[in-house]
Amino acid sequence: MEVVIGKTTLSLIQGDITQEDTDAIVNAANSRLAGGAGVDGAIHRAGGPSIMEECRKIGGCPTGQAVITTGGNLKARWVIHTVGPVYQGGGKGEAGLLASAYRESLKLASSRKLKSIAFPAISTGVYSYPLAEAARIALKTTIDYLRDHSDLELVRFVLFDSRTYDVFVEELKKLL
Ligand code: ADP
Repeated sequence: MEVVIGKTTLSLIQGDITQEDTDAIVNAANSRLAGGAGVDGAIHRAGGPSIMEECRKIGGCPTGQAVITTGGNLKARWVIHTVGPVYQGGGKGEAGLLASAYRESLKLASSRKLKSIAFPAISTGVYSYPLAEAARIALKTTIDYLRDHSDLELVRFVLFDSRTYDVFVEELKKLL
């Protein structure tokens, strides 16, 4: 599914984010930037050890914030590492932190003058964020950002499985 928000194409696809050729791909990292399971492990495997070397130098990233490294062997030149919240029932500021993870990633891409960025469904795997709410927050935060900032040409959500893709499509339709 594809829509245009201001001057930016917002696209949803099912796929593997490590194969993306956007300027940056976003990693759903942990606050130690230590690598891990899921999309984090896949990005480090596909990108090679230089990404982890850069992560070690940066040292860490608080929940809701974002940092950037180069993309190593990936097609994407940059990896933006952001840390989504672990879902603990919804009363611990999770929604605000998840929105912040998306917003800070978009701001970092803009500040580096990048034109395209790809996101996974942050926090919806190991971090257990309920999928529909996470999708709504991801999309609403992105749309709100794009209504105020026209520098990005493409924001793509790369959803790994068909259920996640279907839920993102459903939530995007509701927001439009
Ligand atoms: P978190 O710890 O933030 O929950 P996970 O990596 O466990 O992060 O899961 C986030 C989402 O990323 C899940 O929907 C998972 O299916 C998805 N995912 C896993 N591998 C990939 C990949 N190669 N490309 C895109 N998404 C992926």
